Amino acid sequence: MVVIPTETVYGLACNAMDEDAVRRVFEIKGRPAENPLIVHLSEAEQMEDVAVDIPDLAWKLAARYWPGPLTMVLRRGPEVPKVTTGGLETVAVRVPAHVVAREIIEAAGCPIAAPSANVFMGLSPTNAFDLDPEILVDVDLVVDGGPCEYGLESTVIDLTEETPRILRPGAVSRGEIQSLIGRPLGHMPPEEVRKSPGMYRRHYAPSSPVRLIDRVLQADEVGLTFGAAQSELQVKMPKDARAYGAVLYSALKQLDLRKPKAILVEEPPDGVEWEAVWDRLRKASANLL
Ligand code: AMP
Ligand code: MG
Repeated sequence: MVVIPTETVYGLACNAMDEDAVRRVFEIKGRPAENPLIVHLSEAEQMEDVAVDIPDLAWKLAARYWPGPLTMVLRRGPEVPKVTTGGLETVAVRVPAHVVAREIIEAAGCPIAAPSANVFMGLSPTNAFDLDPEILVDVDLVVDGGPCEYGLESTVIDLTEETPRILRPGAVSRGEIQSLIGRPLGHMPPEEVRKSPGMYRRHYAPSSPVRLIDRVLQADEVGLTFGAAQSELQVKMPKDARAYGAVLYSALKQLDLRKPKAILVEEPPDGVEWEAVWDRLRKASANLL
């Protein structure tokens, strides 16, 4: 059980083909058994070891985006334990770009399951020092790769239906994929939300409540601002979507440690490049129901 750095977030890694190890990952995270894990590969050809009926589009997307923060959902190969895929007949795969992650996967010689190394629903760690003590007591080793380049989870695209669709927005944008494949991507119907854990209403949340505000933070408020920080309880956020995403979780974590009554977040702009940031902020600010 090893925590590894990836370019998205830190992962709690184990052999994806080993049922017992995978069960342990679910246990450590407190993750519901029906939440499938992403299977990390060292190269695109390894898709054939874990998936069947791989469509041409998967090879095309792999050629363009791997190694990198794009996860593809394919039909599960018979050797992948159902525990890994949350009981589904599909499997999510990606080749991470982080050089340390890839070397570890290669050396392991097997596909690696690596969900974010946080307790279920919490903030994903994007730095080794953001790891929760509850996770640390249960792992054998932490590989410290410094801050994650993207800091938000991968884009998840489902290729098992007639029309490919995005299940979770991430670093690779919808627009980019649409222009590569030359047709619009589908949306996830609400009744299928449970099919994909990134789609829970509340997720990626600190323990203090998060509230989105369409105004500027006042001097005595705690939160994330685009202006100058007026106290140590405010974090100045970048105006570039990718740079914002890279520091979002660590900024929320930093404020959360002070146990404020609420963390206020100035709403980011609406542009398509902000889709993944908006998705995480909506989930972080959703009520626990
Ligand atoms: P995490 O590893 O915590 O970032 O979460 C894994 C993500 O992968 C979830 O948010 C799901 O959206 C997605 N995922 C993994 N496997 C599948 C699958 N077989 N079908 C649909 N989504 C999946
Ligand atoms: Mg996660």
